[in-house]
Amino acid sequence: MNDDFPTPITTQPSTFNKTGTWRTFRPVIFYDKCIRCMICWKFCPEPAIIIVNAEKYTAPRDAIKKLDAPEINYDYCKGCGICANECPTKAIDMVFEESLEERE
Ligand code: SF4
Ligand code: SF4
Repeated sequence: MNDDFPTPITTQPSTFNKTGTWRTFRPVIFYDKCIRCMICWKFCPEPAIIIVNAEKYTAPRDAIKKLDAPEINYDYCKGCGICANECPTKAIDMVFEESLEERE
């Protein structure tokens, strides 16, 4: 091991840094396509996808409606798009933030 170049190790948990301000594109989940497989949750590099109660969102089928659902926490979502890329049903769209601000 070379002590001149030590491996950087964080002393803070991921929730310490709110990375939501980094975002240019915002992931939006279309729950009518979401099969609640939680692949997005598994691949998200930030604590930005949380698991919420099954009844909170609509689902494409009754059997799926019994499973807990993913929800994006925009305080931590940095807009990297990994979730949209990995989603097997293409239930996540990346939407340009400025176009959302214009609508508000
Ligand atoms: S990866 Fe796609 S289908 Fe699976 S839980 Fe996430 S949004 Fe839903
Ligand atoms: S865009 Fe990136 S940071 Fe945001 S929810 Fe998807 S995977 Fe996580």
